[in-house]
Amino acid sequence: MFIILQWDKSDSMKNPKNKFSEWYTEVIQEAELADIRYNVKGFLAHMPWSVRTMKNMYRILEAELEKKGHEPAWFPALIPESYFKKEAEHAEGFSADVFWVTEGGSDNVKFSERLALRPTSETAMYSMFSMWIRTWRDLPYKIYQSCQVWRFEGKSTKPFIRGREFYWTEAHDVFETEEEALKQVEEDMEITGNVLKQFAIPFIFFKRPEHDKFKGAVSTYAADSIMPDGKVIQLPSTHFLGQNFSKAFNIKFVDREGKERYGWQTCYGPAVWRIFGVLVAIHGDDKGLIIPPAIAPLTAIVVPVYFKGSDKAVIKKARLVKELLESSCIPAKVDERKEHTPGWKYNYWELKGVPVRIEVGPKDIEKKQLVLVRRDTGEKMTVKENEVVEKVRKLSEEIQQNLVARAEKFFKEHISEADSIDKLKQILSEKGGLVRISWCGSTECADHIKAETLGGNIRGAPLGKEEKAKGSCIRCGKKASQQVYVGKAY
Ligand SMILES: [Zn+2]
Repeated sequence: MFIILQWDKSDSMKNPKNKFSEWYTEVIQEAELADIRYNVKGFLAHMPWSVRTMKNMYRILEAELEKKGHEPAWFPALIPESYFKKEAEHAEGFSADVFWVTEGGSDNVKFSERLALRPTSETAMYSMFSMWIRTWRDLPYKIYQSCQVWRFEGKSTKPFIRGREFYWTEAHDVFETEEEALKQVEEDMEITGNVLKQFAIPFIFFKRPEHDKFKGAVSTYAADSIMPDGKVIQLPSTHFLGQNFSKAFNIKFVDREGKERYGWQTCYGPAVWRIFGVLVAIHGDDKGLIIPPAIAPLTAIVVPVYFKGSDKAVIKKARLVKELLESSCIPAKVDERKEHTPGWKYNYWELKGVPVRIEVGPKDIEKKQLVLVRRDTGEKMTVKENEVVEKVRKLSEEIQQNLVARAEKFFKEHISEADSIDKLKQILSEKGGLVRISWCGSTECADHIKAETLGGNIRGAPLGKEEKAKGSCIRCGKKASQQVYVGKAY
């Protein structure tokens, strides 16, 4: 325990080959978030501390989706191949990613057709939508499910970042008109903003270029954040499907004039699992995790500090403090373990990222006071016992705000601009992040930029903030058609 590598976050700006990757692997194990020893490649055993945090994240996300008119649903994990192949581009795009189930039972009964273990649920849901949606009165139709999906990833896997099994939420919506569907894309961006703010994760919402669309979509939009090593990471994405799937799955409705029409569709896929990984990476430090108070399983950990003879009184007081906090809806716990010293417990809960530590000792009882320590800054303070609830609540808000501000500062410092390929190469290799360039819009130039910068991807133009094209494409010199951002992605 506690062999967290010394990882100087400020150094990661100057040196992209910092120890972030080792730190990340270490913290996943040491903070007991997940165990990678499960013997199927890309599959993780998830442990209580990460699951409790992710359940809090789910609550926020699902409440936000429901506030915006989505209803929950559960669909089967198995999708018949005939459904899966209905939308040709989608089927082709996902063909390399699918796990297939072909037989069952002790006699190895072969199924009449292969069943895909869902990599995403468009084809499962839309086969039912075609039976459920009848008239314009059924629209807009907005549902979501939170579930696992499976993808046969060829790239190397990383806990909470890329896996062959991961946990996400997918929202699937049908509308009467194209305008309404496009409005949903903006609403998805708003949902993303409201949710990620509570996790203190900054992002830019991009319209992806043509060559980087979701297979089967008319257009794709996605939020990108920046990891401590300067690499860009995709967070929730949303897709305007037009009528591609409604035509393939025969999702028709009778409109207000009595005519039959195909629905307009969108789908949105925030993956709490990956957002959790990003949150661990962005907020953590050399002592371990720092979980934003808005989603921490515990806001405060109470550590009794006693000597021979004082233990009963100290534990009694510690429990009282915990009850005080809990009765005010502040999740708290007393670490009463006898086999560990207070110092060991401080390290343990710092590693777990609990926002506030409360120390109770015999002298504190005498003076009717408590010692509070902030996880984010390490600041120590003494408060009056009867003010502890108010103080912990105030500290939680301050810590939340501080994490947002710290993350935003790092994010802004990693947004740059380049007017030549050389400059772009230099920025991407030195500090990474997102770099604004002028681009002609051709896939050929995008491919060249990617090759020359060793992996710099065009992430797109910011949705709703598209900037006018200026100057010429940094690769071919032709007139630029848009301003886009480039980054090396996970
Ligand atoms: Zn060009």
